[in-house]
Amino acid sequence: MRSISIFGATGSIGEQTVDLLLRAGGARTHRVVALTGGRNLARLAEMARLLRAEIAVCADPRDLRELRERLAGSGVEAAAGPEALLEAADRPADWVMSAIVGAAGLAPGFRALRHGGTLALANKESLVTAGPLLMAEAARQRARILPVDSEHSAIFQALVGEDIAAVERIILTASGGALRDWPIERLAAATVAEALAHPNWTMGLRITIDSASMFNKALEVIETREFFGVAPDQIEVIIHPESLIHSMVGYRDGAIMAHMGAPDMRHSIGYALNWPERAALPVARLDLARIGQLTFRAPDLQRYPALRLAREVMARRGLAGAAFNAAKEVALDHFLAGGIGFMDMGCVVEATLEVLDPELGRENDRMTLEDVQAVDHLARQRAGEVARRQAGER
Ligand code: NDP
Repeated sequence: MRSISIFGATGSIGEQTVDLLLRAGGARTHRVVALTGGRNLARLAEMARLLRAEIAVCADPRDLRELRERLAGSGVEAAAGPEALLEAADRPADWVMSAIVGAAGLAPGFRALRHGGTLALANKESLVTAGPLLMAEAARQRARILPVDSEHSAIFQALVGEDIAAVERIILTASGGALRDWPIERLAAATVAEALAHPNWTMGLRITIDSASMFNKALEVIETREFFGVAPDQIEVIIHPESLIHSMVGYRDGAIMAHMGAPDMRHSIGYALNWPERAALPVARLDLARIGQLTFRAPDLQRYPALRLAREVMARRGLAGAAFNAAKEVALDHFLAGGIGFMDMGCVVEATLEVLDPELGRENDRMTLEDVQAVDHLARQRAGEVARRQAGER
């Protein structure tokens, strides 16, 4: 019986993973080791009972009592807090889903690699902040990392049986997000609700806003560089409003392998869950005749400063990814709280990278997890200062 843990089980990716697991037989066919959540204790306890998990972990130690009460009589252990998350990651599992949102997902995923099993990586922030460390640890522990992000799953699938040396370029597709057709002058005044109206995908709140600003795509460009080891100038981004091609790989003979499917994350989650087999999945089938046409356009870097910043981060490497991600998270918090405008997010991240520049030059092979966490902390402080200044100027 395969053993499974899901970090971030109560989130959008976590819920879809649980859905697939239940369809595949749940506790009858899988031994569920750990399920973790953040604040949604009711759902965490419900899932843990349903899947007969060994342990359920929530993010905040203050919630432990309530979690215990919700699990009373179930036989499921309860734990809480960042240390408990790491202890849950120490429990061996054959397949671990890393789907906590943000930098908080790095340490548990890193720790889970120790068992040498499979880490299904939805938490793209892990690769952005600590890509060289994570990939080296996976190699050292003979663990396998499988991508869950739809673009990276698409690239992974388009690479099956191919030689990476024959790859000329990787083309990441982007929907362009909720505001893609707005006149650029109106973007500064975009509200949270407007940025949340994603045209194609149903995702968690933070990633949906990141999709409108293309900070999500910027993270994915860096993720591509770290995961597939290609050079930054081999990575292109193209806006594809239909979101039916999830990404493409261009080879040196001019051929392009594109991966298509309905915009449903259960495809890439299911691919990672069943790899190397393809299992039947409950996702919609494309009716190409009805779709009729697919369209593409180049992204405008004025509109999406995040894409330009991603190039700078890749040129710097070292700890720049950690600073970029942390500053982006803080800028997003301030946008969500109404303190800064939509276009201010890019300014906050850019200013933070400038201020921190002297701290970021670390050789990749000399970086440690502690360095990453220290820069993450520093960047959050600096970005907070910049954002508060920006808010004062509005
Ligand atoms: P959600 O916000 O929907 O869920 C995040 C999960 O992390 C929840 O279980 C949440 O708990 C938990 N969590 C939040 N903060 C903490 C914390 N400090 N410590 C421990 N757990 C915490 O996010 P998504 O599912 O949308 O995204 C998860 C990851 O997958 C992200 O890295 C995202 O970039 C990536 N991803 C998501 C896609 C999508 O379609 N949603 C597509 C591709 C990648 P709770 O809800 O209980 O508070």
